[in-house]
Amino acid sequence: MNQNILRMKPSGIRRFTALARATPGCRMLTIGEPDFDTPAPIREAAALACASGLTHYAPNKGTDSLRTAIAEYETNRGMACTMENILVTVGATGALNTALTGLLNPGDEVIIPIPAFPLYESITVAAGAIPVFLDLKKSNFQIDKEALESQISPKTRAIVLNSPNNPTGCVLSEESLTIVAELAEKHDFYILCDNVYAALSSEPVPDLTLRPELRERVILCQSFSKPWAMTGWRLGWLAAPEALIDKFTLLQAAQIASVPTFLQKAAETALQVEVRDMAAVYRKRREYMLARLDQMGLAYPRPEGAFYVFPDISKFGMDSEAFCIRLIEEGGLSAVPGSCFGCEGHIRLSYCYSDEELQESLDRLEGFIRNLSCRAGATGPADQPV
Ligand code: PLP
Repeated sequence: MNQNILRMKPSGIRRFTALARATPGCRMLTIGEPDFDTPAPIREAAALACASGLTHYAPNKGTDSLRTAIAEYETNRGMACTMENILVTVGATGALNTALTGLLNPGDEVIIPIPAFPLYESITVAAGAIPVFLDLKKSNFQIDKEALESQISPKTRAIVLNSPNNPTGCVLSEESLTIVAELAEKHDFYILCDNVYAALSSEPVPDLTLRPELRERVILCQSFSKPWAMTGWRLGWLAAPEALIDKFTLLQAAQIASVPTFLQKAAETALQVEVRDMAAVYRKRREYMLARLDQMGLAYPRPEGAFYVFPDISKFGMDSEAFCIRLIEEGGLSAVPGSCFGCEGHIRLSYCYSDEELQESLDRLEGFIRNLSCRAGATGPADQPV
């Protein structure tokens, strides 16, 4: 067995979702995928492409027509590129895997700001490289220059940025990004931008992929999953300097050969589909969830994107995993412990649920917290801060 695999951990997100499913009547705020179905025109385009015989191998890099469409999409967004800069991947998961595995040698270091989506650590470990964590909680979920500099070494090969962030929904400011850009230039490392939630933001999100002077060191990991509700399709892309894309293609050719041809055709249609309506629904749900958390007296870092909120539960005097287990058992609701993202004292709540689901789930959270507070009031010191 490859020794690196023995160091990999199973997904805590899936574990807590499974625990909830095994608990009769339990509601969930754990899922990180849109509750919408893929828009009909995209599904119809896939059916048509399949029926018309687009069932043969696609080129390793992806079809020319999809790569051209993606390059146009990126250029319109402000990251000028051509199809030579694009590799079609199996979701952002495939993009991150190919990019990190392609860049890393054993013993190299990758800086991962936390809280973070756990995949970055898994891939880094699988590649025999070393994750170096940068705790953002201490700096209000932004990048602190001294803190980042202290994590850089001659072995630093890359940093992974995820903004809007899973699990906090926070967005990195222009100042934070400038700090990363300056230090990446100074110490010569790559910047992987995992922007899978950016297209769902109604406000422009600060973004290093839009800075032409960084073109040689920025790698964009992107996905069809979240904006177009296409999680099950497994489609994404990498945008990077052509020389890197050529090398990453060798890796992808060995790993998966290529992405299914008729799905790539449908992805071209997806790029034409407006996601503004879905984004507006998420924003409304977010406002509802934040108002409810405010009423419950739960603090959180202000989310500006993605579809998560990361409330602080440290005042209840237990770790996030214990809190989430009790929430399932006593409150009939599942959330994901902050520890799954490398950040204690918080839980992740997703708002990829209908209004009715959200209301019932948040009622349960409120009831659970009230019970905790009452019990602490009955048994603990009078001024226990719950
Ligand atoms: N990056 C982040 C931050 C995510 O939250 C996810 C999925 O939840 C992914 C990447 C992977 O997405 P995909 O479905 O495109 O593989």
